[in-house]
Amino acid sequence: MANRFEHALVTGGAGFLGSQLCERLLGNGHQVTCVDSFATGTPDNIAHLREHPRFEFVEHDVTRPVEGSAVATDVDLVFHLASAASPKDYQRLPIDTLRVGALGTEHALRLATNAGARFVLTSTSEVYGDPLQHPQRESYWGNVNPIGPRSVYDEAKRYAEALTMAYLREHGTDVAIARVFNTYGPRMRADDGRVIPAFITQALTGKPLTVAGTGEQTRSVCYVDDTVGGLLSLAYSSLHGPVNIGNPHELSVRRLAEEILSLTGASVPITKVEGAVDDPSRRCPDITLARAELGWLPRVGLREGLNRTIAWFARNGVADRFCA
Ligand code: NAD
Ligand code: UDP
Repeated sequence: MANRFEHALVTGGAGFLGSQLCERLLGNGHQVTCVDSFATGTPDNIAHLREHPRFEFVEHDVTRPVEGSAVATDVDLVFHLASAASPKDYQRLPIDTLRVGALGTEHALRLATNAGARFVLTSTSEVYGDPLQHPQRESYWGNVNPIGPRSVYDEAKRYAEALTMAYLREHGTDVAIARVFNTYGPRMRADDGRVIPAFITQALTGKPLTVAGTGEQTRSVCYVDDTVGGLLSLAYSSLHGPVNIGNPHELSVRRLAEEILSLTGASVPITKVEGAVDDPSRRCPDITLARAELGWLPRVGLREGLNRTIAWFARNGVADRFCA
């Protein structure tokens, strides 16, 4: 099934998820073109892929048309990941985030349509907002504040989903929508503000763990290898989705802090900081659809995933950089 695709293009391929996806696509035998502007990703994430004979990197901002650029168009699979993803990043880049969700998605869809390629959008659990249904099924329409500080990301992704479905209906583009839930693992930026890199960095550098608000809000965190496996299963299927890709193991932010303290052996306190505006109070995917239609489910448990991530942050000198 995988081999029906030869040449995959990954927008946002120099980011955390995108670089891991590029690596797996190369492992599966595809030719891979990675397109990125380094808005939030880094050259380091793809440095080890640069010499691979089937890998090509093109620096390009996808809010600009690909026509006339160096971006390859002879592709048969397009993964559209380009977008700031952490609340700290998208609140620092609010207009860019809306533009990449709108213009970037349109350019990626147009490229896929012209090439006759399958298109996979990495949407997000944020389309459910602060959910009134729990766990979240794909049929739930969400509860999003359209003007709050998170809206630039949530609404950009909701628009991107609408645009993706419009390309399916109007042009017959072979599209798929993945609603990705919180994913963590190696290559997250230590300073991207997301909860797992924040807590691991704090634990490894002897600083208090900053639990926002009550700490009773929940997330369901998925190890990156599992998420990438879900994205590939969706790409290799004929499903349009949307399909939830996430780990249904739900835990509170406070519990996550306690797990990281226990796994790092750090003896630092947990401190309370002000809660984020419009912070979703609960989040947990219903993955019945992914299990039934893709045969996909996450395999890496919380402790194993956290241990691998902690080891990566420790190896990559987080303590040296942040203790100075
Ligand atoms: P990331 O910030 O590490 O990666 C995003 C990449 O997109 C970066 O390399 C960045 O430079 C690139 N980019 C941003 N704007 C661009 C533009 N205009 N042109 C070209 N490249 C651009 O974030 P991530 O966690 O790897 O997220 C990747 C995708 O997955 C995003 O679309 C995000 O919304 C989605 N997602 C991620 C998670 C998660 O928990 N990691 C959850 C849900 C959805
Ligand atoms: N969070 C926290 N301390 C931090 C960073 C985040 O308690 O240092 C909380 C944040 O308020 C939210 C949860 O952890 O309730 C997940 O935040 P993250 O930014 O990782 O993801 P998202 O809010 O997009 O799910």
